[in-house]
Amino acid sequence: MENIENAPFLREMIETTSNLYRLGWDERNGGNISYLLEESEITPYLDPTNVLRLIPMDFDGKALAGKYFLVTGSGKYFKNVAKAPAENLGIIRIAEDGAGVEVLWGYTDGGTPTSELPSHLMSHIARLSVNPKNRIVMHCHATHLLAMTFTHELDERLFTRTLWQMCTECLVVFPDGVGIVPWLIPGTNEIGIATSEKMKETRLVVWPHHGIYGSGETMDETFGLIETAEKAAQVYTIVCAQGGAKQTITDEELTQLGERFGVNPKEGYLKED
Ligand code: 13P
Ligand code: ZN
Repeated sequence: MENIENAPFLREMIETTSNLYRLGWDERNGGNISYLLEESEITPYLDPTNVLRLIPMDFDGKALAGKYFLVTGSGKYFKNVAKAPAENLGIIRIAEDGAGVEVLWGYTDGGTPTSELPSHLMSHIARLSVNPKNRIVMHCHATHLLAMTFTHELDERLFTRTLWQMCTECLVVFPDGVGIVPWLIPGTNEIGIATSEKMKETRLVVWPHHGIYGSGETMDETFGLIETAEKAAQVYTIVCAQGGAKQTITDEELTQLGERFGVNPKEGYLKED
């Protein structure tokens, strides 16, 4: 068997958790990531028939039965992932009956996958139903987006429009806009259901007064998605601090932008004239 620490998926996870920590979006144990893996990606490094532990789940994961995920550990600090990957991360397989997960590698100190596993797995199910290539679900406490949930209307259209107006790239990167769920208790099936419902329509979901969920085909794409929305929220913060916008990108200009880059802004979000 090859050393799993050299596996490309593990290197990507280490790099991403380190970057998220460095950016201040994952203080303490804040944030979690799940990465859908092919069996062929893991077999050079581990024997998938060797199940180390079974961890029960209280929601139905049958739609993902047999699928493999690399998942950050619950209560683990992103700050520590690079120096101790096997303690802070784990590879799991969703059990055939969908009622638990089989640990194949990691969580070496007896840990478990993130407490947000319901939101992650339900979001994977939702995203895979619209894009079979989707592999990543990422949650973090992006500072300016989080702050915006106190000062901006929590209306999906208005929130999206503000982000689109703050940086020209935003509409191109997330033409579907952002979804917003109500404030809900983290780690519950309820927040998982609410998040995944939004994930059918958009790859970014805001958790008011908590953070953000993003999803995508690759780690880079998903990180870039959150990074772009967070940058817009940071610009919004600075614009507000400077006394508010005196001018902005108009709806007509946003429409032209969508046409130029071949993306369809979410219907009804721009004024039609
Ligand atoms: P975990 O440590 O269980 O991943 O939880 C962190 C978090 O951000 C909860 O929303
Ligand atoms: Zn969180």
